[in-house]
Amino acid sequence: MSNHDDPVSTVYRGRFAPSPTGPLHFGSLVSALASYLDAKKQQGSWIIRIEDVDGTRCKPSFSEQITETLRSYQLFSDEPIRVQSQHSEIYEQKLSELKRQQIVFPCNCTRQSLAQHNGNHPQECQSTTSKPHSWRLKASSAVYLCQDDIQGSLQLSEDLKNNCPVLKRKDGFFSYQLAVVVDDHLQNISHLVRGADLIETTAQQLHLYNLFGWTPPSICHIPLIINHSGDKISKQNHARAIENGHLPTLLRALHYLKIDLTEPSSIAEAISLAIEAWDPSKLKGIKDLPLEKQDLHFI
Ligand code: GLU
Repeated sequence: MSNHDDPVSTVYRGRFAPSPTGPLHFGSLVSALASYLDAKKQQGSWIIRIEDVDGTRCKPSFSEQITETLRSYQLFSDEPIRVQSQHSEIYEQKLSELKRQQIVFPCNCTRQSLAQHNGNHPQECQSTTSKPHSWRLKASSAVYLCQDDIQGSLQLSEDLKNNCPVLKRKDGFFSYQLAVVVDDHLQNISHLVRGADLIETTAQQLHLYNLFGWTPPSICHIPLIINHSGDKISKQNHARAIENGHLPTLLRALHYLKIDLTEPSSIAEAISLAIEAWDPSKLKGIKDLPLEKQDLHFI
């Protein structure tokens, strides 16, 4: 990674950044808790950001539901919640900077035309801006190293060599990859604690930090909770919404973060005990954790 001019923040600023494509499920509660506990253990701030750039899949009603569920577990944002769909101009501005650097290109390819490459777009195509087009980032041979406090040292390169990710879609929506990097930088986020399913997005994000000349935050990935077929608990797998403010649910979620509390009397007490008990080194090297039998009702 190259050296950049902006100083790394010494103040801990963490965040939870859900995409409101469904209500909060058990797996996302575990992620929210991990980012919150890590921030609070280090006397940092914790911020909620709604990542609703995908206007076709995200719904305001899910954003409300998610933030209400987080509140019901005493997970309060220390700052006003940032809603990405309200910040398109800044993503457009940042995309223009990449256009000026000539490291993005317009692309008219269709899903069908990319099917032969498993949906990836391995190299620049002969496309034009006179037809409907997305904007893609050129492939790169850069190699990035992520010193992940939980997963260890991750060498990330393949994702960059064989793919040109979309930064702005044909339908005008910006991609997660662009928006997440721009916002983490603008919000001065110092630490990302998120699910291991996002490891595969990390190379592209580190690459974007590099292209913009920004210092990336410290990034670590907590284990994913997987079902009996080895799939993560996710909205795509129809994970159900969790109950709001339900102490037993919270205690089971904490269990997957290696925190086992004995009968706290309230959610507030459980959260404050969990902050004391949080020790990410207990998760070291664990990429996934099978959902235990007693928790099957969460999926
Ligand atoms: N918005 C992403 C999601 O819900 C998470 C972003 C991140 O933590 O980097 O999967």
